[in-house]
Amino acid sequence: MEVIKSNKGGSKLCYQGYMYTKHTTRKTVQWWKCVKRSSTACKGSITTSLQNENPTPGQPHNHDPSDISIKYTKSRYAMKEQAALTRDKPSQIFAQVVSTCEDDVQAMMPREENCKRTMRYQRPAPPVPQSFADVTLPAEFTITTKTNSSYCMTMDRMLRTECWSFVVLTV
Ligand SMILES: [Zn+2]
Repeated sequence: MEVIKSNKGGSKLCYQGYMYTKHTTRKTVQWWKCVKRSSTACKGSITTSLQNENPTPGQPHNHDPSDISIKYTKSRYAMKEQAALTRDKPSQIFAQVVSTCEDDVQAMMPREENCKRTMRYQRPAPPVPQSFADVTLPAEFTITTKTNSSYCMTMDRMLRTECWSFVVLTV
């Protein structure tokens, strides 16, 4: 038995190929219900201790167990976590996580764009500069230009680096 984090941040209990989300907590036990209760009207349930131990199956499932779904959920969360904890580009994270997935898990993955959008939401905003001394711009962004076309090129390069904030200095 294992408790994993879902892409949306909730906890999912994995046991014998089935996944459950927490339903209710009583004094000594927790009730978990199958994640497919909506999609397949499954009534599968399980109870555990408050420490997520002593799994006791309740109602049976109306579908087969699937390790693939569990691996998929783990992969999606791995992407999200890596996006939050590192400065790796979402495209790099996506490529790296997908390359380690089995074919069946890869087949379940949403399009790369969808995964990358989820990852971008995980990025912490950079600190707000308190003074001009805190503002450090890469040399390429300090170039002043006189023609509109090269100004646009500089803006374009800034956007491609996925900057979160822009400082516009005028004289
Ligand atoms: Zn079920």
